[in-house]
Amino acid sequence: MAKQYDVAVIGAGAAGMMCAAAAGQGGKRVVLIDHGDKLAEKIRISGGGRCNFTNLNVGPNNFLSDNPHFCKSALSRYTPQDFIALVKKHRILHHEKHRGQLFCNDSAEQIIQMLKAECASGDVTWRMPTKVESVERMDDGFLLATDTGDILADSLVIATGGLSIPKIGATDFAYKIADEFGIRMVAPRPGLVPLTFDGPSWAPFVPLAGIALEVDVETGSNKGKGSKRGVFREDLLFTHRGLSGPAILQISSYWQPGTPIVLNLLPEMDVAEALIEGKGTLKKQVGNVLSQWLPTRLAEGLLQANGFSPDQRLADMTDASLRMIGAAVNRWSIVPTGSEGYRKAEVTLGGIDTRELSQQTMMVSKVPDLYFIGEAVDVTGWLGGYNFQWAWASAMAAGLALAAG
Ligand code: FAD
Repeated sequence: MAKQYDVAVIGAGAAGMMCAAAAGQGGKRVVLIDHGDKLAEKIRISGGGRCNFTNLNVGPNNFLSDNPHFCKSALSRYTPQDFIALVKKHRILHHEKHRGQLFCNDSAEQIIQMLKAECASGDVTWRMPTKVESVERMDDGFLLATDTGDILADSLVIATGGLSIPKIGATDFAYKIADEFGIRMVAPRPGLVPLTFDGPSWAPFVPLAGIALEVDVETGSNKGKGSKRGVFREDLLFTHRGLSGPAILQISSYWQPGTPIVLNLLPEMDVAEALIEGKGTLKKQVGNVLSQWLPTRLAEGLLQANGFSPDQRLADMTDASLRMIGAAVNRWSIVPTGSEGYRKAEVTLGGIDTRELSQQTMMVSKVPDLYFIGEAVDVTGWLGGYNFQWAWASAMAAGLALAAG
């Protein structure tokens, strides 16, 4: 005999717990199902273990989606201030780190415990670890066959996230359900991910692993369907396999395979102009001059990659050569070979096509009582607390609609 609930939520991560708590506190009988044996691993490892749980400056422009206006409704109805109020209610001390990013002072575990406590106040029933073997649409709801017994629920919320970090339990469950119910998808791909480079042109940069500096980075254009331009000023980090750091993670979500990213390694300086002006006064070798402004190994790598020796005397070099070096520093255009993939990606771009969902409730328009929330949906935030804010906001949109239903 199947156990009867008003709402079944599959996926007890950020969005799933938030939605279950809201529906439960609204008086619904809610069951929360997860296949993992450890709760909310992604929250636990987020923000270096301190969970960057929101950003004070959240706006629709901080999100990527094929349908960019979709996220506005949920984000405006559940704001960072609403989540901060919840965090304060649970006496979780926090601080702003960088550009509006809020982190726990102590541990991400506090956010997990807070969400567990909110679920407890909504009398949410836990089924974890539980594997959902099939989902069937019935006349009066959804029948879930699971390895811990059948569950019958009037409404079903899919909150199983995206594909990033499979080793802590990410699956394509949401996409399979979409396929089963004929719901359109935007092709998923890794986002907020380090980029890789190889081949002879990258050889001079391989020994630079560990070097970090603040840069401007850009890619793409706003012309043409589906093309998006990204521009960020953030830290860049050279790695053994290519480039990482916040600058690269941010731009990776905008980058299209086969196209270049353009780096300005000295955003506050016109290097060509400084070198040409310095020709008369700076009697040094070009490598020494550049090393005043950039890490020495990077300066030497850039010169080598552009066919110059660091030992060449500045005074002996042509203006055209110095302009070339200036462009290599201020407009370094490189085509990544690929990315580190879902193994290292913080998020999954794409997912359930938002044109299939109500922006008020997150319910699938053509499958009444079926909802998708969180990262499973084609709304992906920048690095900096935006993805959790989307998880909270989309979860509340569904949770409050379910409670009111
Ligand atoms: P998830 O939190 O991924 O939860 C999905 C849940 O579904 C999991 O519990 C999983 O076990 C379960 N599940 C999956 N498949 C199944 C299945 N078949 N059956 C049953 N259950 C299933 N974002 C920020 O805003 N700030 C940060 O500081 C931040 N740091 C991050 C650091 C790392 C290393 C990573 C990988 C991500 C980070 N993110 C951060 C992104 C953020 O964690 C996600 O966007 C967010 O967790 C998405 O919430 P969600 O509930 O949709 O999915």
